[in-house]
Amino acid sequence: MRGQPQEFDRVLSSMCTEPHPVAREAAERFLATNPGDPATYQTVADLEDEAIAGLGELVGLDDPAGYIASGGTEANIQAVRIARNRAVSSTPNVVVPESAHFSFQKAADVLSVELRVAPLTDDWTADVGAVRRFCDEDTALVVGVAGTTEYGRVDPIPELADLAHDVGALCHVDAAWGGFVLPFTDHEWNFEHADIDTMTIDPHKMGAAAIPAGGLVARDGELFDALAVDTPYLESAKQATLTGTRSGAGVASTAAAMAELWPDGYREQYERSQANAEWVAGALAERGFDVVDPELPLVAVPMSDELFESLREADWRVSRTADGKLRIVCMPHVTRDVLEAFVADVDRLLPT
Ligand code: PLP
Repeated sequence: MRGQPQEFDRVLSSMCTEPHPVAREAAERFLATNPGDPATYQTVADLEDEAIAGLGELVGLDDPAGYIASGGTEANIQAVRIARNRAVSSTPNVVVPESAHFSFQKAADVLSVELRVAPLTDDWTADVGAVRRFCDEDTALVVGVAGTTEYGRVDPIPELADLAHDVGALCHVDAAWGGFVLPFTDHEWNFEHADIDTMTIDPHKMGAAAIPAGGLVARDGELFDALAVDTPYLESAKQATLTGTRSGAGVASTAAAMAELWPDGYREQYERSQANAEWVAGALAERGFDVVDPELPLVAVPMSDELFESLREADWRVSRTADGKLRIVCMPHVTRDVLEAFVADVDRLLPT
């Protein structure tokens, strides 16, 4: 066999992680199944129902609608598509905070909607006043992020949801990364806390499922009618997903991971990850770095180009925010040992 898969022990930049062993095993078992054809592949279709019911419980929905997508990008594109297809305006716009993931740019491009990007507060969360100023009668969707990609921040979701409905728009929450840690925090981010319409929550990130497993859930199944197309050659009549053939591995591994880990396993994982984030933030602060306080298990640290490049040369897989801070995403594979080795390398490589 040619090539080796990624070793995880120096990967600090990824929002994905090693799948849990039960998720890996389920993914292998269901590799050749297609939940896009549920009448043919009935077992994996049942597992998808189980996975969506589990996601519903996690996000505070008794009767969730949704499906397992290829990832957060697809889920976000579909949320924008629902809003665009339901919009009354012929020139709909979508208002996102500046912290929104770049998948919304793709969505706007593919779906020909205008993307309006509202500035943030000083704490890198959505500024509700600014979002309000960007909305008008053509606004079809207001987006909030629950666990931002760069700083792990949580937007004021209840206020954004109220604002969306005041202007006659839908509200979508992107909890692609944060969704599996937020249930164990005090944040108001889910369908019980706010009048949210749709949410992205990705099992292949903090959910410890195998890639590809993104999640799109909706309060009301009727929202998916805006996406449904007829499927003449399949046994099922309609399809609301973006791709046709989909990964049974992603679906089965989601159901397996959630059966194994929800809620206690995910709680322990969150507590470990958050403690690690606080530990590494403290260790770097002691060394004089102006560390951004980790609200969720993601640490951002201003750092010179020289040190950043030296760390990359020392084989650390690290990345930076748009304004140049190093990001350490404390995923489950980023253990205390890994972080201690990282801090030791910072000490060794710090320019004197
Ligand atoms: N939304 C957020 C908040 C993310 O952090 C990411 C990726 O990191 C995405 C969406 C896109 O997810 P994916 O890469 O699975 O398409």
